Amino acid sequence: MTIDGTTRTCGLIGNPVEHTMSPAIHNTLAEAMGENLVYVPFHVAPEQVGAAVEGAYALNLLGCNVTVPYKTRVIPYLRELDPLAERIGAVNTLVRTEGGFKGYNTDMPGLLRAMGEDRVNIEGERVLLLGAGGVARAVAMLLVQNGAQEVLILNRTLKKAVRIAEEVNGISGRKAVRGLALEAYKTLDTGRKYLAIQATSIGMYPDVERAVIEDPGFYGKVHTGYDLVFNPARTRFMSLVEESGGRAFGGLKMLLYQGIIAYELWTGARVDGELAGKAYRSMRSAMGLAEG
Ligand code: NAP
Repeated sequence: MTIDGTTRTCGLIGNPVEHTMSPAIHNTLAEAMGENLVYVPFHVAPEQVGAAVEGAYALNLLGCNVTVPYKTRVIPYLRELDPLAERIGAVNTLVRTEGGFKGYNTDMPGLLRAMGEDRVNIEGERVLLLGAGGVARAVAMLLVQNGAQEVLILNRTLKKAVRIAEEVNGISGRKAVRGLALEAYKTLDTGRKYLAIQATSIGMYPDVERAVIEDPGFYGKVHTGYDLVFNPARTRFMSLVEESGGRAFGGLKMLLYQGIIAYELWTGARVDGELAGKAYRSMRSAMGLAEG
């Protein structure tokens, strides 16, 4: 592309940012759509988060993504918060508006779009949600909002699972969520199999040989496993699900669609299936993966 006086810039604020796949998504979309836009990662030190958000606005950036560990810490520096981001309590996308950035969360709509494309149903499902970190809290909310019959949050630290269950039940007005210890799967009713969503950080590169639960007895209760970990693209959790006869998916498409939704917010353009496929291939190639 040619960079000229009218080129718009979008960026990623995080720490670290060196291994991000987001430039592959956004720069591919911009090039394919003929948008005069570049996307650049910015490594931001913890004490500079506010200065980074205000500086990005002063430099006329069109928007930013925000990644770990700043998804909550950027909030005080925003002019406005989208209601979904407010409910989730985390922002991963900043969109330029008059007088400051507006914060959005595209991780959850991204997961929903990815699950839709992978034909993973939520409505009426019984769900085992592994993990009770920042992402798991948002996923629990997404599942309840989309009609999951029951969500059991299994976590190493029981009190975190219980706290999320109480919060989500309070917000939704339904008592669909329960917080349990990780080992509680052993006592679950197996009359009907579960959708399992893996939202712990276990199995992420370089710790690729591990899954949060190794016991085949757990996987026998699962008809579909969705791992939010995207690096590696194929995790041990996914292998264990498939070995027990279930369908398994990884977090790469969630990553793709959170990026696509951010791009749509910045540019007002709609990314169709063909362009999404192009961005997906570019992201996989940046990760050194074969086409898939
Ligand atoms: P987080 O807040 O740090 O939470 C980590 C979770 O993992 C907690 O539930 C923690 O349990 C559990 N955990 C960590 N080490 C454990 C161990 N040794 N044994 C048992 N449980 C352990 O992380 P997060 O921000 O929610 O992210 C969770 C995952 O989502 C990450 O893998 C991340 O890559 C993925 N993610 C994917 C996308 C995507 O686009 N695909 C986007 C965002 C995040 P305790 O509560 O007991 O500590």
